[in-house]
Amino acid sequence: MFFFAAIMALYFTSLNSGSNGNCYYVGTKTDAVLIDVGLSCRETEKRLQKLGLHMKTVKAIFVSHEHGDHIKGVSTLANKYNLPVYITAKTAKYGPRLISHLSKSFTANEAVTIGGLLINPFLKSHDATDPHSFTISYNGITVGVFTDIGNVCAELIGHFKLCHAVFLEANYDADMLENGRYPIHLKNRIRGGEGHLSNKEALDLFNNHRPPFLSHLLLSHLSKENNSPEMVEALFSTHANGVNISIASRYQSTAVFSINIDTNIQIPAKVQQPVQMALFDE
Ligand SMILES: [Zn+2]
Ligand SMILES: [Zn+2]
Repeated sequence: MFFFAAIMALYFTSLNSGSNGNCYYVGTKTDAVLIDVGLSCRETEKRLQKLGLHMKTVKAIFVSHEHGDHIKGVSTLANKYNLPVYITAKTAKYGPRLISHLSKSFTANEAVTIGGLLINPFLKSHDATDPHSFTISYNGITVGVFTDIGNVCAELIGHFKLCHAVFLEANYDADMLENGRYPIHLKNRIRGGEGHLSNKEALDLFNNHRPPFLSHLLLSHLSKENNSPEMVEALFSTHANGVNISIASRYQSTAVFSINIDTNIQIPAKVQQPVQMALFDE
């Protein structure tokens, strides 16, 4: 039973999360995508290898927006592995330099198929040229990657309600930002509606709109200056109600989490992770 369950699963991990680099991996045993590559090519390879994941499984890169912490390693990784990079034309103008045959476009609310995965982009509010969030679905299981979001719009709520697992930004504690050493223009950029989500905004979204089948919440893109992982974990754990709460670190990858495709097999979230990496070594 476990073997069957292991094959029919959607796996996801954060290789790094924060203003120093973002890279999120979502996929099945055979097909995966990277949402952003804000680490160097070498570091991305190293972290995947350490987790027992393989670049040969990665079939495409999706770029959320052109900020450096999301695109640093995109072109080198794409060129080395001949990977298509899905990026809107507007973002591409300011984004990574790509060999033209690797550059693919996407349109908000039009799902892209990569192997068995469906990647659905939608617009978000952030101070970039053409920023998008993504959900990645496989056989009815959906993982959302929602970072670099200035505010919780109706579209974000709608997609959040579809997710079994979410990488959700909890960038800053409002008091720490207010009382911190950032100049006022930077404080206002962060909290002004086109910057980042606060812990409280993320918590309100989680408390008011999570679907009953949400099993994993990975708090992401935490500020080094205006937040602390311990505080975020404590805040969300109080409201977890059975949801597996994790912090996507600025310094290392998370474990590889998984969700079973067959929802009839009731495996509690607690025992779904971390995945035994031997699964990937076949
Ligand atoms: Zn960012
Ligand atoms: Zn950004």
